[in-house]
Amino acid sequence: MSIIDKALEANKDYAKSYDPSQGGRPAPKIVVVTCMDPRLSDLPAILGLPRADLDVIRTGGPVVTEDVLGEIIVSNRVLGSKEILLLNHTGCGFTTFTDAELNAKLSASTGDATPAPMRFFSYKDPEQNTRDQIKKVRSHPWISRDVPVRGAIFDVATGRLREVK
Ligand SMILES: [Zn+2]
Repeated sequence: MSIIDKALEANKDYAKSYDPSQGGRPAPKIVVVTCMDPRLSDLPAILGLPRADLDVIRTGGPVVTEDVLGEIIVSNRVLGSKEILLLNHTGCGFTTFTDAELNAKLSASTGDATPAPMRFFSYKDPEQNTRDQIKKVRSHPWISRDVPVRGAIFDVATGRLREVK
């Protein structure tokens, strides 16, 4: 049985105790942009915030791309969220290669170089990555000056968050 088959099966139990009032219009209070890494999946526990308050945008790193900016703007301007947290982490897989290395490796292992060069948004330093993201989000004219944009790094060894100033 594949993982997806298991998940589809397990969902039948989940739906039995599902609260239909959760199907109303979402009213997120904060946008969290974080990595796809599974260690960052339990954000309500990591941040001590209710699930319903969180709009979560996940990308590798994370990285703030044009798509991510669009999602942040929809969260703020359409759904009404009021703060933005850029949540990086230690031990990120995206620090373990460079875009050039991964392009070369995949071109060789698949025998097909036509997608290269793909942007994987690899990076080296989570602090610098966070500062770059804050700058990118803060400088967008459609993100209101009233909305705080802050960054933090989750330490996968301790579970602690450290704000990047
Ligand atoms: Zn990561």
